Amino acid sequence: MSADLYLKNAEVVTEKEIFHGGVVIVGEKITEVVRGDHDIEADTIIDLKGKYLLPGIIDGHVHLNEPGREVWEGYKTGSMAAAAGGVTTVLDMPLNSTPPTIHRDELTKKRAVAKGQAVVDYGQWGGFVDNNLDNLEALNEDGVIGFKAFASNSGVDFERLDDDMIYAGLSKMAKLGNMIGLHAENEFVTSYLAKEIQATGRIDRAGWYESRPPETELEAINRSCFWAKTTGGNLHIVHVSIPEGHRAIAKAKKEGAHVTSETCPHFLFFDQQDFERIGPAAKCAPPLRSREMVDELWQCVAEGLVDVIGSDHSPCTWDLKENGMDNIWKAWGGISGLQSMLPALLTEGAHKRGLPLTSLVRMLSANPARLYGLDDQKGAIREGLDADLVVVDLDREWTLTEDQLFYKNKHSAYLGYSFKGEVVQTLVRGKTVYQDGKIVADPGYGKLVRRSHSYNF
Ligand code: ZN
Repeated sequence: MSADLYLKNAEVVTEKEIFHGGVVIVGEKITEVVRGDHDIEADTIIDLKGKYLLPGIIDGHVHLNEPGREVWEGYKTGSMAAAAGGVTTVLDMPLNSTPPTIHRDELTKKRAVAKGQAVVDYGQWGGFVDNNLDNLEALNEDGVIGFKAFASNSGVDFERLDDDMIYAGLSKMAKLGNMIGLHAENEFVTSYLAKEIQATGRIDRAGWYESRPPETELEAINRSCFWAKTTGGNLHIVHVSIPEGHRAIAKAKKEGAHVTSETCPHFLFFDQQDFERIGPAAKCAPPLRSREMVDELWQCVAEGLVDVIGSDHSPCTWDLKENGMDNIWKAWGGISGLQSMLPALLTEGAHKRGLPLTSLVRMLSANPARLYGLDDQKGAIREGLDADLVVVDLDREWTLTEDQLFYKNKHSAYLGYSFKGEVVQTLVRGKTVYQDGKIVADPGYGKLVRRSHSYNF
């Protein structure tokens, strides 16, 4: 039988090694991983001319805002941005859509809306708030990849958890074989500090990060790790911005807790001074940190302490950013970064700091597949798996401009920045969905993915 597609003459990157070779695809699957240059019969043969071939990225942290806030993003534009960024699976957060995905009915509605729109594959997080502990079984049965929860206020209609529900939820996760993805910041101290700073009349940008200092994040990390350890529950701490946070999680892991850590490209790319200059487009929580911490965070990445990297793409309409230009408290917090994640990490990681591409593959594809229960289908260049692939021109230098963005709202903290390393082509299940600046798949090509096995990270 002749193959459908043979991608040849590539530098193939896995989480363990880089080798010269290619990939053979029949239908939606990888049927052979080829080492070296060989003549193989296929309907289509693409010579990648020495470019790098990586497994597609599984971005476990994306806010697509649909249904209810589709003016912010939506599955169509969000998935197009994903494809342009080498992301072949997006996992959508349960908040910022209305109503939030905290009940089976809302998940069903969200899936109905998503169907027919996405150009990459997609899955969903369930939401865990202060009054839906009894809904988690049903959401788990429906294949949510995890349960997002907040230790601090979320800023939208999604109630945060106190220790009682963190404890109860983690205990439940141990039984369900799923996990909680926690936004870990201390609500009481951050809101006290915000009030104190606002009382002095300050509206400047530094006030934002001064109200959410590193220790308020570290406390929530330590506390939730403690409950994970004592309950045996599975805990994933999202968007960890501080090096001490990753070290605390690594320590808890060593002590037997089922905890994992995520960081985001913006914590590795921008610092507080960038935030003061860029303004609302770079406002997020936890906030951007000092340059010293950014460098230490890269050290954590180099030491293998970071389990996954997710974009935390959290878009909004421009007016919600613009109204915070002169008063940072008024701006919506969230960075539009899905499309720039891989270029940012190639630039600052692979080129500037010599981070091996194999490490990037581990944090962007292989570990997310294992963590979210998708590794029997995705996350690696291996025979039998979905042919989700990204072709990267590692040396291409370019600058991000508004017209390149596929987001519904064309703003991003990364606008105007120069990158080294560009996504040339993205394939989802054997089909090219993005090539040379253009989306070449129809909305609706993307398929729903579900957690296929219990937590076993
Ligand atoms: Zn988020």
